[in-house]
Amino acid sequence: MKYRDLNIQTQREAPNNARTEGFAFLVRAGYLTRENTPTQLGKVALDHLRELSNVPIFLSQMLLPTIGNEAEVFFPIPSGSIEVVHCSNCNYTERLELARFMKAPLPKEDERPLEKVLTPECHTIEALANFLNIPKEKTAKALMYTRLSDNRFIFVVVRGDVQLSEAKLKQHVGEVRAASVEEIERSGAVAGYASPIGLQEALIVVDDLIPQSQNLVAGANESGYHLRNTNYGRDYSAGMIEDLTQAKAGDTCTNCGNLLSVFATINLATRKNYDFENILLALAETYHDSKGLTLPHPAAPFDVYLMHLPGKELDTRAKAEEIDRILQNAGISVLFDDREERAGVKFNDADLVGPPIRVTVGEKGLKEGMVELKPRKEKENQLVPLEKILEKTISILN
Ligand SMILES: [Zn+2]
Repeated sequence: MKYRDLNIQTQREAPNNARTEGFAFLVRAGYLTRENTPTQLGKVALDHLRELSNVPIFLSQMLLPTIGNEAEVFFPIPSGSIEVVHCSNCNYTERLELARFMKAPLPKEDERPLEKVLTPECHTIEALANFLNIPKEKTAKALMYTRLSDNRFIFVVVRGDVQLSEAKLKQHVGEVRAASVEEIERSGAVAGYASPIGLQEALIVVDDLIPQSQNLVAGANESGYHLRNTNYGRDYSAGMIEDLTQAKAGDTCTNCGNLLSVFATINLATRKNYDFENILLALAETYHDSKGLTLPHPAAPFDVYLMHLPGKELDTRAKAEEIDRILQNAGISVLFDDREERAGVKFNDADLVGPPIRVTVGEKGLKEGMVELKPRKEKENQLVPLEKILEKTISILN
């Protein structure tokens, strides 16, 4: 393809809205607009990826530092909107809201008798723990929902120091919404002071740490009061005991005991459904230097950036067109910079657009039957005899 046909617009400056270097270079190299829409060049790159994706090893061919599991492949990137838990030791990978981790129960205690305490203005776990001067893990946190399918009132209990994963809850009970004030009142619970003790008709669902935690402070279902020493089994029971806790960085991997990390990511694939725009961003993020993109073969939409430097005596353009044909006939994809531009402009654009090899046809070399070849990631040019250009290109690409 020819540079002018693709109407490539490169830019000197990174866009103001660039959240990552990869995005900045995709805009500067003319693959994306500042509004993140693929240009003609961008569409060529995406079509190229789409074609490559017909083989099962496609994603591994992209040579990206991905993390994933059987269902999904993710690419860690600061601007990513999907939080993913990852174990660097055994490679366990899961979306944060569904990730498993090893839970740490508190030391077992003898059950003490229930005791009602006045706790004014203690609507949150934080306030309650401060007021009673106890750690948050000695409290029970109540969350109330209504199941969409049958309007069943669902009362959830997790330990006060952990965060409920609504995604895990939904896996066990189905879709839910927050319960309304009327629904909470009807159940016998009191918002801010709610407890599962004495509720009628509610489906009580507790995190699996709750039956292992003795003498927790829970609401008294009476405004301004809490109960000390509530105990699962003695004071209430549940319809379901499940893992409902959201993992966090530093939790322990259930498979291997290593510490888990949490990464911001983008999704590259779900099963074999690829997100090609995200894959292009991941490539740009992984493969760039200070001058532009350094896309590897076969991910790069073009293997060769071919250019001629306008000459005074020899027709360098005709020779470049000949090389274009030779390479293309051998199945090598070429971006031919056919502009009558200064060398510096073309070299800059070759670095920005980033094919793995640059081939330059100039008058000086041509007089000796040579062209210049420069692998994108190397500093030095090589002079290559015209008749060896195909062989040399193939050997570099492989
Ligand atoms: Zn692990």
